[in-house]
Amino acid sequence: MLTMRFFTITCKLILSLVVLSGPLSLAHSAVVIQYHHVSDSTPRQTSINPKLFQAHMDYLEKSGFKVISLESFVKQVEQGIDFDDKTVLITFDDGYLSVYEDALPILVKKQYPFTVFVNAKPIEQGLSQWMTWEHLRELKRKGATIANHSYLHQHLIRKQEGESDGDWLNRVSHDLALNQQKLDKELGKSVKALAYPYGEYNSNIQKLVRQLGYVGFAQHSGAVDKFVDLSAISRFAFGGDYGNIEDFAVKVNTLPLPVIKWKLLDSQGGELTDHVLPEGEFRPRLKLWLEDGDIIKRLNCYFSGQGKTGKLTSKDSVVFELKANIKAGRSRFNCTVAADKEGRFYWSSYPVIKGLPNGQWYKE
Ligand SMILES: [Zn+2]
Repeated sequence: MLTMRFFTITCKLILSLVVLSGPLSLAHSAVVIQYHHVSDSTPRQTSINPKLFQAHMDYLEKSGFKVISLESFVKQVEQGIDFDDKTVLITFDDGYLSVYEDALPILVKKQYPFTVFVNAKPIEQGLSQWMTWEHLRELKRKGATIANHSYLHQHLIRKQEGESDGDWLNRVSHDLALNQQKLDKELGKSVKALAYPYGEYNSNIQKLVRQLGYVGFAQHSGAVDKFVDLSAISRFAFGGDYGNIEDFAVKVNTLPLPVIKWKLLDSQGGELTDHVLPEGEFRPRLKLWLEDGDIIKRLNCYFSGQGKTGKLTSKDSVVFELKANIKAGRSRFNCTVAADKEGRFYWSSYPVIKGLPNGQWYKE
C-alpha cells in the first residue's frame, strides 16, 4: 500500500509538472464526520445544537459536497477507486434518540445517507436517551446504515486483571459478535463495520477486527483517500467546542497529508510498534516521510494540550518532538499545512494513548 501511494504521488508529481495543475492529491479527498447527540439538552461535549446541525448539512449542499453511504465508502477503498473530491460520510455514535428526533428529518429532506454505530445494551434496557429498535428500523427504511459499536461499550484495548492476551481478544470478539447478532436479528443483516468505543484501538485489536471482517472507524481527526487503512479510519468529531460553522467548513474541506510513511519513535529514537505507549515512555516522537520538500518545510504538528511541537527536518523526512511529558489519556499529533490558495488544508493525525504511571488505566 505504501509503495502504491508512493507510485501514485510520483505520477501526480510528474503530471503536475507537465500540465501545471494545482497541488498534489487535491481531487480525491473524503472526510468522515462524527456526531453523538443532536440536541440542546444533552451533555455539551458530545452534543451539537439542531440549528447548527442544519447549518452543517446546508453547507454541504450549497458547497457541492457528495454525501455517500458507508457501503460505498468501503467499496471504493476496497476496489481502489478514487473518491470524488469533496466526498463526505456522515456518522453518529451510540444511537441516541435525538438522532431520530432532530437529525433524521433534516437528513431525509436532503436525501443524505448516514450511518449510526449502535451499542445494543442500552437499547435492550430501554434507556430513555437511546432510540428503540422501532426507531432504528425506521432509520434504516429511510436510508441509514446501522453498524456495530460493541455491546458493552468498553475500552477494547484494556485487558482485565489476570487476563491473558488470548482471553482478552476472545472476550472482545464475543462482545462484537453479540452486538452484531442483535443488530442483524432486529434490523436485518448489514455491513460489518465497527466504530471503536472512545475511538480506542491498538495493533492487536486492529488485527482482530480485520480477521473478523470488520472495517474500524476511529476518532482521530483527518481527511482520507483510497489508501486509508480500513481498520483505523479517521473521523472529525463535532460537539462541545468543535463544530461552529467556520470550523466545520475548514474540516470538511481538508485533504489527506501526502505522507509516504508514518513511524512513532520512542524518546531514544527506537521504533514503537503500537501507539499505546509502554510503561516508562513519556516523550514519543513522530517521524513522517514525504515526497514534497515544500510540504516538509511548511508542515507543523500540534500535540494535545502542548500546542506546536518541536520539529527536525531532513531532505525527505521530518520528526516532531514533544515539549513536555505526555499525560495519561488519549492524545494526538495533529499535522496540518495549507494546501492551496483557496484556503484548504492538508490534515492528518496520529493518535497516542498513555496509561497511568503505575501501569493502570485512568478513570473516565
Ligand atoms: Zn460511543
